[in-house]
Amino acid sequence: MKTNPYIEKSEENILHTYNRFPLVFEKGDGVYLYDVEGRKYLDFAAGIAVNALGYGHPVYTKSLQEQAERLIHVSNLYYNVPMIEAGSKVLKISGMDKVFFTNSGTEAIEGALKTAKKYASRRDGHAGHSIIAMNHSFHGRSVGALSVTGTSSYREPFEPLMGGVKFADFNDLDSVKSLIDDTVCAIIIEPIQGEGGIYPAAPEFLQKLRDLCDEKDILLIFDEIQCGMGRTGHYFAWQGYGVTPDIMTCAKALGCGFPVGAFLLNAKTAAGSLEPGDHGSTYGGNPLACAAVSQVIDIFEQEDLISHVRRLTPYLEEKLDKLSENFSCIKARRGKGFMQGLALEGIPVGQVISRAIENGLLVISAGGNVLRLVPPLIIKRKQIDEMTEKLKDCLI
Ligand SMILES: *Cc1c(COP(=O)(O)O)cnc(C)c1O
Repeated sequence: MKTNPYIEKSEENILHTYNRFPLVFEKGDGVYLYDVEGRKYLDFAAGIAVNALGYGHPVYTKSLQEQAERLIHVSNLYYNVPMIEAGSKVLKISGMDKVFFTNSGTEAIEGALKTAKKYASRRDGHAGHSIIAMNHSFHGRSVGALSVTGTSSYREPFEPLMGGVKFADFNDLDSVKSLIDDTVCAIIIEPIQGEGGIYPAAPEFLQKLRDLCDEKDILLIFDEIQCGMGRTGHYFAWQGYGVTPDIMTCAKALGCGFPVGAFLLNAKTAAGSLEPGDHGSTYGGNPLACAAVSQVIDIFEQEDLISHVRRLTPYLEEKLDKLSENFSCIKARRGKGFMQGLALEGIPVGQVISRAIENGLLVISAGGNVLRLVPPLIIKRKQIDEMTEKLKDCLI
């Protein structure tokens, strides 16, 4: 069965919640994907910033195979070895104090929000607290995460959502301050907005948020689901800013393709928030998922991927800046490390993406008219060259 029959079958059976590009993928190898027609694509999308190790990493694959043979699931009524190992490793790279494993990013956000509410209710002796989120943020599609997502078109059909959420402008401290009152228990922010259009936070903005939170005992939640796990040349983007969260969320590249997420707490938050019975997940901390996390972190260390990202970032940025100079449709380049956005004008980003597909290159969009580049972290210099050559033909 080739592309079209597959697509017809898919549209017959799978609920139509995505307008997909007409590609049916069959296998991956390194930083390349192959469709059912055997066509090869250089992948600068990485399953939306997920496949940091690319495809078919032998060590990663083998450890999943071995864990699948040993033990796939036991439930949280018992302990399991991969969860314990993954837990120590994720705390070590983040410097946080406690972790809860989830199955996705949106569930990590749910846990973070519940933690903040519980912290404030234990402190104050009552519930009814509010949360400040950012305009143009993206935190996921479940009801709680959607409530703090700053794009009204995503939220409106599902209202009323979780109450007590107020939206401030990203990188605008006064707009945050104007929303502060005694009910606020948390501020949630992506250190680099991803879906919203690749907007890095200004360093002084994050630092001032930290100061404000310290002053008022408000918990600062960093959503590192997209910008985390090495993408900016730090395990977590906030480490590059030197501004520490009380709660952070992680997913996407945490399992490098295996569905897994986590929320992590500092000691103060862990001690004053969720207690036995407050939160749970049948699959959360699943041995197979945690074996993936554990192996991903080992590979990051063994291959020194963070240094690799730092070494190659100037080259990637130089290439993209050169494109910006040469093509009038590129208005600006934004981003950090291997999380880059090209703001376009005069050409719809969808058109550039479709042309790139014809050229054997996968790139994606982000909010507004932004071309998003979030390649596997294992890309090499020559693949950056290959990407720019392919992209050139798609721009005006
Ligand atoms: C993708 C993403 C989420 C949601 O994660 P899912 O695994 O899709 O639920 C949340 N926050 C940010 C910043 C994301 O990029």
